Amino acid sequence: MSEPRVYHNLIGGEWVASASGKTFESRNPADSREVVGIFQDSSADDINAAVAAARTAYPTWRLMPAPKRGEIMFRAAQLLRDRKEQYSREMTREMGKVLSETGGDLVEALDMLYFCGGEGRRLHGQTTPSELPNKWQLSIRQPVGVCGLITPWNFPMAIPSWKMLPALICGNTLVIKPAEDTPASTYNLVQCLIDAGLPPGVVNIVTGYGPSAGQPLVEHLDVNIISFTGSTATGRRVTELAAPTMKRVSLELGGKNPMIVLDDADLELALEGVTWGAFGTTGQRCTATSRLIVQRGIAQEFTHRVVERAQGLRVGNGLDTDAQVGPIINQRQMERVLNYIEIGQQEGARLLCGGQRLTGGAHAHGWFIAPTVFADVRPQMRIAQEEIFGPVLSILTVDSFEQAITVANDVQYGLSSSIYTRDVNKAYQAMRDLYTGIVYVNAPTIGAEIHLPFGGTKATGNGHREAGQQALDLFSEWKSIYVDYSGGLQRAQIDNAE
Ligand code: NDP
Repeated sequence: MSEPRVYHNLIGGEWVASASGKTFESRNPADSREVVGIFQDSSADDINAAVAAARTAYPTWRLMPAPKRGEIMFRAAQLLRDRKEQYSREMTREMGKVLSETGGDLVEALDMLYFCGGEGRRLHGQTTPSELPNKWQLSIRQPVGVCGLITPWNFPMAIPSWKMLPALICGNTLVIKPAEDTPASTYNLVQCLIDAGLPPGVVNIVTGYGPSAGQPLVEHLDVNIISFTGSTATGRRVTELAAPTMKRVSLELGGKNPMIVLDDADLELALEGVTWGAFGTTGQRCTATSRLIVQRGIAQEFTHRVVERAQGLRVGNGLDTDAQVGPIINQRQMERVLNYIEIGQQEGARLLCGGQRLTGGAHAHGWFIAPTVFADVRPQMRIAQEEIFGPVLSILTVDSFEQAITVANDVQYGLSSSIYTRDVNKAYQAMRDLYTGIVYVNAPTIGAEIHLPFGGTKATGNGHREAGQQALDLFSEWKSIYVDYSGGLQRAQIDNAE
């Protein structure tokens, strides 16, 4: 194996070591003997320097015409496309998911580059008539300033792109602190932007641990907005830390996503959907299907088929083209998932397959768990309520469509949901009544596209949305402008009525 690359922080266009000189290793979850990269273990000093660099770059970047900012994105897109194979492999090594999925993660960033590049020619505001004569009025977007971005490990390039690109097209500069497990893909995306002509200081990367590098970013007085994706527990902490500075905070947090399968559903289609939704990305998606809510008439047969399918999945190193399900991100997360499997059994759920760590052979040095299915899960069990973030599916049986909707909504989260049915009336009722930010009909709970808003209700966030044009609302502020060309003082908010 070759020597691992040493990555430096990117501050003001320079590659620099952490102020403390400390570093940390990122390891391959499929083979923990392999060090993927060595990264800077940063602290408040590094964050301060990065925020200062972003602040310095801001006045010039803010005034660069937005279509020109977009052109940098278009050039970066071409570079990212050219480097797709290499970057996908690197992502699989750092994160674990299979190559076709890391390719998809990268393509999402590619889509986002094109989408946000195009927004540079829109960034629409409003023009509207005035109540007074010879007066003109409009609203325009203005950037917010310096953005602090904090990202999780499960979509190492897509999620940074969801945050960075809308922030940049709106004219903001930024500091990003990627997840400690997967910083390399952020570097790869940013390298494309730099090679495409991004000026120094507009994007700054500071790596490190949440409490030592993330927290000073959140608390920084000169950071105007924090966009955070991660667990609900950390998101709550981020809100508390940011509150004294009154900065804008956007949170994209956990999920406990239900798939409903009614008696009249196309079961073959539903089977494909649940297999992909529950075990794709090893269940490590915020939108992963973690609850399967089946109507009683088909419950037994469908459960049997789901188990058969789960048992047939090939678990292995994502670089192996045969593998369908990769490893868990790290040992701590693997133990957490195994603990939930233990809890499920103690609660009285019936373990139908999986349930254990895979060891030996190709699994000997990685963090692998067999695809796991529980039946007889009751709605109030912890495995039906709490986010597990692993290849664990809980099957709940219901008697009616109405009960399915109630059970689906009865969790603290509200990210994604889905329903399989051939009854158009029930499909429309579900679209209306499932209280989640995303609803799928006859498709699993995963698969969002970047030009629609992404985010959830309840404890999944704080009401903001990523992606789509809604992301622009997060990274810009409205300015209303009134131009009076009457030549006289015209008073609004005065009773002018004759
Ligand atoms: P974490 O909440 O553990 O971490 C997210 C990020 O926050 C990491 O960069 C982490 O650093 C950082 N962090 C940790 N503590 C602090 C702190 N005190 N102050 C500032 N930053 C901090 O989440 P995971 O990385 O484990 O990601 C999995 C979670 O993300 C799941 O709950 C999943 O549902 C959610 N998620 C939500 C999505 C959505 O859009 N709704 C999309 C994808 C994931 P470090 O890496 O060092 O721990």
